[in-house]
Amino acid sequence: MSLKAENISKNFGTQKALNHVSFEIQSGQIIGFLGPNGAGKSTLMKIITGFLQADEGQIFINGNNISDANSDFRSQIGYLPEHNPLYTDMYVTEYLNFTAGIYKLKNTKKRVAEVLRMTGLEIEKRKQIRELSKGFRQRVGIAAALIHNPGVLILDEPTTGLDPNQIIEIRNLILEIGKQKTVLLSTHIMQEVEAICNRVLIINSGSIVVDNTLEGINKESSEKYITVSVEFLTEPNDELLKQLPGVIEIQSPQKTIRLIKSSDSADIRPLIFNFAVEQKNPILSMQRIEKSMEEIFRDLTKRAN
Ligand code: ADP
Ligand code: MG
Repeated sequence: MSLKAENISKNFGTQKALNHVSFEIQSGQIIGFLGPNGAGKSTLMKIITGFLQADEGQIFINGNNISDANSDFRSQIGYLPEHNPLYTDMYVTEYLNFTAGIYKLKNTKKRVAEVLRMTGLEIEKRKQIRELSKGFRQRVGIAAALIHNPGVLILDEPTTGLDPNQIIEIRNLILEIGKQKTVLLSTHIMQEVEAICNRVLIINSGSIVVDNTLEGINKESSEKYITVSVEFLTEPNDELLKQLPGVIEIQSPQKTIRLIKSSDSADIRPLIFNFAVEQKNPILSMQRIEKSMEEIFRDLTKRAN
């Protein structure tokens, strides 16, 4: 099930919410759609699901333009909106039956039982939605998004507002669903992407700034610079350290410890070693520090601003 956004732009008055956004998702992947608040994630998801019209650009599901009058794209997309709108007076099973009715499904009873099982809702199916915990309400939203067995699932911040245990439960559920479906999941949390996604699209101020796998992002960023943590026996001469080729920044968390950032993809450690020998200031320990995804995300969204 493929999904393609081509040159999507959207303005709200004078504000540019999306600025020529393009990407393509082949199938069977969980794509993290990551960006700070206000970046344009929800707007793009509403456009993909047909709830909002783009000013410019096209969305294709399996090669079919969703704005074609005879497109049946709604049968191929499931959508969990940001503020999961549920009819809280309804009972869980009743609500799912109701949703199945909207899609005019035939074997409603069987399908409702299936999604109840898939989303781990069987034990709560007789409750009113208002009686459920937030995590279980979110499961109801996901069950409703799955009811017509769409190939593409669009989840807008599905774990926001949940407690840590609920977050893990919902992530596991999404991982399970992602085995069979293409999932586009928005979040503002980098760890979420690390935990469940194959690939990440990072959006900032309405533009896609990164479209890559996690490994690709890691590699690219470590090619730009590396950081080495060094502990010397005595306080090193920072002026001389700064003159080593490639050094762009030095931090001093302690008197004898330096975090040395170098712009080179080449390893700076042999140069530091020689420096220590020349200075007769032995190195007690030295290691390269891997950048966390969180830092990478901050770098990427900062640079674009
Ligand atoms: P995100 O989901 O990434 O937090 P949104 O897509 O909700 O971001 O919003 C992107 C930008 O568009 C924000 O600056 C937001 O204030 C603005 N925006 C979103 N919806 C509307 C709307 N209906 N009217 C005016 N501005 C909007
Ligand atoms: Mg949003």
